Amino acid sequence: MNTTELPEAIIDTKKINLKSLGRAELEAFCTDMGLKRFRSDQLFQWMYQKDVTDFNQMTNLSKDLRQKLTEAAVVGSIETASQQRSADGTIKFLFSLPDGHRVEAVMIPDFNDDESVRRLTVCVSSQVGCVFGCSFCATGKMGFLRHLHPGEIVDQVVKINAVTEELYGRGISNIVYMGMGEPLHNYKAVTESAAIITDEKSLGLSPKRITVSTVGLTKQIRKIADEGHTFRLAVSLHAASDEKRDKIMPINSSLNLSALREAVEHYHAKTGLPLTYEYLLFDDFNDGPEDARMLAKIARWAPSKINIIMYNNVAGVSLQRAREDRLDAFMRALRDYHVRATVRRSRGDDIDAGCGQLAIREGQAKGKTIGS
Ligand code: SF4
Repeated sequence: MNTTELPEAIIDTKKINLKSLGRAELEAFCTDMGLKRFRSDQLFQWMYQKDVTDFNQMTNLSKDLRQKLTEAAVVGSIETASQQRSADGTIKFLFSLPDGHRVEAVMIPDFNDDESVRRLTVCVSSQVGCVFGCSFCATGKMGFLRHLHPGEIVDQVVKINAVTEELYGRGISNIVYMGMGEPLHNYKAVTESAAIITDEKSLGLSPKRITVSTVGLTKQIRKIADEGHTFRLAVSLHAASDEKRDKIMPINSSLNLSALREAVEHYHAKTGLPLTYEYLLFDDFNDGPEDARMLAKIARWAPSKINIIMYNNVAGVSLQRAREDRLDAFMRALRDYHVRATVRRSRGDDIDAGCGQLAIREGQAKGKTIGS
């Protein structure tokens, strides 16, 4: 592979950051170095199973090869800048990227009645900031600064996996791409990162345990289906009419609900997989009987379930978390329409676990939003 073909972000001075490459690109790099294919597997395991960044510690590589690699490449890594643990066990991580930008990830534990661990879910970031500017979202207020590359996404999982191994004696069980950024806006890195995470030589997680969310980027939803990716898809809906969605999600003015419907139907026809809709319930905005009726219609576009999410209020945002009585009535209405719906309570309220909140507090430059 010629380095001139590599995206600018993955070239560190004259050395290639191997963490910025997908699996096939890493193989191409090794071929260009005149190395056998198994060397690419060894490098991959050192980077993603053992979290080693120094070629000199890669003991199954010859001294000559280690020297050659040191001259041509680096293994960049993210660093844990801070960790905050909530009373409910949720841990929020702030990571520093090699260029000084910061992103967040959250680990959410679920416990059985006997307090044993049922599930350890990690919510990862895919971009620094976000261009889509949804009015309720702390990350949207930052604007878009840059995409993460595959290794920067996988590293969040690798670092948190080490923490859960220490705390609970087991690795994480589920990953959701619902942190900072719109995952499908960074399509290549996100799909490459999911492929790395599911690789047996890395974490070997089942694609069934990975959920990628999107605000509704229809071209990319079709592409996921056409390329045969089997991770799960979640669509952030948050309103069930164009009129209301337009008010809180600027993307809806160019990709409205009818465009979304076509993409969702294509997705299901091609993959046979169900999907999830995420629906933040806002007080007196999208929590009435008519909203429930329209949401039930959307739920029938393709086999699906709906996660009703209780919003973590964000400073400076007028939309507020729905009241409990309105939530109850909304759930009753969905049940009457025979819709599969679950309430997701916000976790880690005491540590600002709504994504983007911590990074904003720590201060980052403001980036671009659509329309700006
Ligand atoms: S909700 Fe998602 S798409 Fe919308 S601004 Fe926030 S990160 Fe971006």
